[in-house]
Amino acid sequence: MKTDNQSLLARSMAAVWHPCTQMKRHESLPLVPIARADGVWLTDCDGRRLIDGVSSWWVNLFGHNEPRIKAAISRQMDTLEHVMLAGFTHEPVVALSEALGELTGLGHAFYGSDGASATEIALKMSAHYWRNLGQPEKNRFVYLADSYHGETVGALSVTDVPIFRTAYAPLVRENFAVMSPDPRLAAEGESAADYTTRALADLARVLAAHHGEIAALIVEPLVQGAVGMAMYAPEYLAQARILCDQYDVLLIADEIAVGFGRTGTMFACEQAGIKPDLICLSKGITSGYLPLAVVLCSDAIYQAFYADETAKAFLHSHSYTGNALACAAALATLQIFRDDDVIVQNRDKAQTMSRIFSPLAEHPQIRHWRQRGMIWAFDVIDAPPDFAQKFFQNALNAGVLLRPVGNTVYFMPPYIIDVAQTQMLCAAALQALERSINPPRP
Ligand SMILES: *Cc1c(COP(=O)(O)O)cnc(C)c1O
Repeated sequence: MKTDNQSLLARSMAAVWHPCTQMKRHESLPLVPIARADGVWLTDCDGRRLIDGVSSWWVNLFGHNEPRIKAAISRQMDTLEHVMLAGFTHEPVVALSEALGELTGLGHAFYGSDGASATEIALKMSAHYWRNLGQPEKNRFVYLADSYHGETVGALSVTDVPIFRTAYAPLVRENFAVMSPDPRLAAEGESAADYTTRALADLARVLAAHHGEIAALIVEPLVQGAVGMAMYAPEYLAQARILCDQYDVLLIADEIAVGFGRTGTMFACEQAGIKPDLICLSKGITSGYLPLAVVLCSDAIYQAFYADETAKAFLHSHSYTGNALACAAALATLQIFRDDDVIVQNRDKAQTMSRIFSPLAEHPQIRHWRQRGMIWAFDVIDAPPDFAQKFFQNALNAGVLLRPVGNTVYFMPPYIIDVAQTQMLCAAALQALERSINPPRP
């Protein structure tokens, strides 16, 4: 068994270029070979079990080996696996588009494969919208400091995470960054509400000065995920919506990470009582089974492309657009939300879990304990420079998959996690924390 594992790791190192990884690091930190998964559990090739505390990079909502999703994909496979969506259509893509239209209040679902492709679609669609209206100069974007919208070249132009962006800066078009609404950035003595007001003033200033060249504002509603689960007030979104209307700028809600119940409502924008002009969805949409992304937009946007001229059309496509298997997985996901009353159940579950996490929340070496729906996060005080790596390794040794961002540790578990598993997750995180931080100063 051991030797099989060693050879799998060696073959992976030789043949696979792993994402977001300095491959040389794996000389000292071996890859983790996963053989199978069930519920919240990942099982490695030696039979060691790990709780998937980050839902396999935020995609898995209802656990691994979910029988209903598996059955739906399998049923779909018996009739139609895929057909090109230009010039053709099929029941799963129509049913999914109708269902998402009903849930978001937007329509005209345009499909891609990964989250970043949804961002690309939303950016191109926004700029082309203004072009079709005779205002081609409105082709730049406003994004929040510390935002993340994916790593393709267009998405990087509205992403503000230096490690993803710096090496590609010459390829990336300049857009307008405005202050992040993250209240942790408030000045000494400044209240969270005052900080939000100041962040909004910054947005208003940029829109006032540049709206003639701005197509859209793109935001991660309520939680800026990749920077380290920065959670901000719904009031920011409500006011941003008003400012966008005032300055004729479209609002793109990137709900790729926060959509599908993650923040406590089906979509995060609901908590601000706003409707964006475009919404980007992916990640949890198929419960983590198959890649799928979608952008839904307002009727006004759709109508601006509906014309006799081909050049006015949205001439964008991906080979797997509207893949029938992925749509079937997404429809099964929405069915689980209805059958299991997931949004309501998660509210109680999140409260119970917060109580279980209280020893962490009260730990003397953490600050900014925060929670929104089924996301919890905290920042470690005086974290050593290699904290994230150390904590990841110590957490693995304690039986959980947790992957800090810098000095921020977060939990984003599958919604089916139970009380006993939450207790294990908490105990493992406490142990990993103790083993990863500097000893307290005398
Ligand atoms: C993950 C993520 C993306 C990119 O999705 P990929 O599937 O990784 O390309 C975009 N925006 C947000 C908010 C995300 O969390």
